[in-house]
Amino acid sequence: MRVVVFQHGLGALDYAVPAGMDLAPGDAVAVPLGPRTITGVVWDAGRLEGREVEAKRLRPVTEKLAIVPLSAPMRRLCEWVADYYLSPLAAVIRMVWPSVAFLGEREIVEYRIGGPVPGRMTPARGQALSNLAGRQGIVRDLARVAGVSEAVIRGLVTSGTLQPVLVGADATPAQPDPDFAPPLLEDAQAAAAEAIAGAVRTGGFAPFLLEGVTGSGKTEVYFEAVAAALRQGRSEGDHGGGQALVLVPEIALTAPWLARFAARFGVAPVSWHSDLKVAERRAAWAAVADGRAKVVVGARSALFLPFADLRVTIVDEAHESSFKQEEGVHYHARDVAVMRAREEAATVVLATATPAIETQVQAARGTYRHLKLPARFGGARMPEIAAVDMRRYPPARGAWLSPPLVAAVTATLAKGEQALLFLNRRGYAPLTLCRTCGERIQCPNCTAWMVEHRLSRRLACHHCGHQTPVPPACPACGEADALVACGPGVERIAEEVSRTWPQARLALVTSDTINSPAKAALLVKAVEDRQIDVLIGTQMVTKGYHFPELTLVGVVDADLGLSGGDLRAGERTFQQVAQVAGRAGRGAKPGRVLIQTHQPQARLMQALVAGDPAAFYAAETEARRDLGLPPFGRLAAIIVSSEDAGAALAAARAIGAAAPDVEGLSVLGPAAAPLAMLRGRHRQRLLVQARRSLALQRLLRDWLAAVPVPANVRVVVDVDPYSFV
Ligand code: ADP
Ligand code: ZN
Repeated sequence: MRVVVFQHGLGALDYAVPAGMDLAPGDAVAVPLGPRTITGVVWDAGRLEGREVEAKRLRPVTEKLAIVPLSAPMRRLCEWVADYYLSPLAAVIRMVWPSVAFLGEREIVEYRIGGPVPGRMTPARGQALSNLAGRQGIVRDLARVAGVSEAVIRGLVTSGTLQPVLVGADATPAQPDPDFAPPLLEDAQAAAAEAIAGAVRTGGFAPFLLEGVTGSGKTEVYFEAVAAALRQGRSEGDHGGGQALVLVPEIALTAPWLARFAARFGVAPVSWHSDLKVAERRAAWAAVADGRAKVVVGARSALFLPFADLRVTIVDEAHESSFKQEEGVHYHARDVAVMRAREEAATVVLATATPAIETQVQAARGTYRHLKLPARFGGARMPEIAAVDMRRYPPARGAWLSPPLVAAVTATLAKGEQALLFLNRRGYAPLTLCRTCGERIQCPNCTAWMVEHRLSRRLACHHCGHQTPVPPACPACGEADALVACGPGVERIAEEVSRTWPQARLALVTSDTINSPAKAALLVKAVEDRQIDVLIGTQMVTKGYHFPELTLVGVVDADLGLSGGDLRAGERTFQQVAQVAGRAGRGAKPGRVLIQTHQPQARLMQALVAGDPAAFYAAETEARRDLGLPPFGRLAAIIVSSEDAGAALAAARAIGAAAPDVEGLSVLGPAAAPLAMLRGRHRQRLLVQARRSLALQRLLRDWLAAVPVPANVRVVVDVDPYSFV
């Protein structure tokens, strides 16, 4: 019997099945390896290569472990992921079977209203009490559902208002009700919802692209697909009904989404994310595996949960690059979600206002069914977008906002409305320079400038996390007070805003300030309650928010994303600006967007201003086709790194020299990576470009297997790369 063991580099080994042990593919087992016992999973006969071992020399399986077996669709998915992304099968299986899967039952403390009303009543407590009537859950989920901080919930626990309830990890999560509060859909919404729900009812692999402009109500539409999944097979008993998965790019930002879900289905869904406690993870995992958890919302890793009966997967904001995993197994959750749906014979919906070119091409080929929501819900108009030519309207000295943008903010504040300024750069200044000797402060571990964070009075490397206090004197020449900040980050824009509009109330929205769901919920509440006049944020602020009083969006530097120059730079900039522009004018009041740029004549800017994405995408798509870039050709990056620069270079050269000589395949490099050093490791890169018809993975596998690499060198393959640094 073939067993994939969880031991780096070993792969599949053969074992004998002892008499009386009943084993099937997918079962977890303990097996002997030398003097030790290790864990593995029984695999289907004939699917993996391995050395044949004489039957009488086989050692027996030690024990069958009591955990939910890997289903056949999941085994096929694991094989696909391992094969496509050139990863060890065991590494992929470990994503499906995280360590919590092997834990026993634990008890969890949940809370519900049951005690006296608190002596001291605050608005937040009042809000919590009215939103939590009839709800039960762990502190974190209650905080999300109520839209208050965890501290407020804990305060209510201390006052005895919320009473603890001990639940076993095998307790059934609250069941979402598909008929709790269905919305009245507009015609285009109803047509799209019915197409998807119909596919869910019919079953079978059905991939959709749901493309709807910002504010068109994509969420309401895909909720109907979730409802359809919940209604499937319900006659089988109380806890019947199929399962649904919603993948979101950033779980910290889901508070408003969770509230909408609860309003539609009566209860919160099960959340899957990295800050769950072990017992909570275990409970969620187990409930997903036996079908008690009906709807799961999570970041990309939720994709590998062991659903018993997955009927539909939604990839929300499907264009987001955070779905691309850049560590360990380098996979793209959007693409794996589609493959999982194929294996499970289920529906998958990629929902976005700005689909990736890869996704659009699939839709144009007819691989994905293309559904469109062309207008905003409720007659809200799309915002009016204008470019500000920074060559004609330069900002004042030491400032970053141009006179037209300043005037627009002033007018917005005068009307009592809200403005949002977007700059995709954390911190105060991206570079710190010595005025005397020209020294630029660099990270000791990376080829990167240290970014000043004035709020925390530190310099930080955004690649490895290295931090130091801002030095009082130049570290190179020793001159005191000679260091100057160069360029803007959001903190510097905030400084300019408070200088220009001293009365305005600001909120800074970056991963430094909004680093937990509770903080995100507080921010949303403050904006909704109009306690904030100006939001200043990085890409965090582009995602999903719906603020009716926000009528002005200013893009501080639309050219920023174009400087890197990788193949997706134009597309990414377009998506980011279109998404942040989509925050403007979502309510009754019309919105306005000003884009600061030095190249207002560029096609990208023209398309944004004209509200004509089709023109931009068509040109961008043709350029990719001409150059044989994805999705018309295939790319893979090979990253060779070592603490020893010479070893990295030698290995990269050896790999380059061994490149297969195949028609339709070309190799760029090796060359020092733009991020030539990262976390103390020297990095070389090769970029492989291949015709679509070539079996790229097999070529790569054979090629790399033939080049011996010393132990101090690491070789990582990134298939369909998004990062080129
Ligand atoms: P998108 O995700 O497409 O940007 P949303 O799903 O956030 O748009 O919808 C925008 C707003 O319109 C939300 O406040 C949502 O609740 C509301 N909305 C959309 N469709 C409906 C509907 N059919 N009935 C009531 N409200 C709706
Ligand atoms: Zn660093």
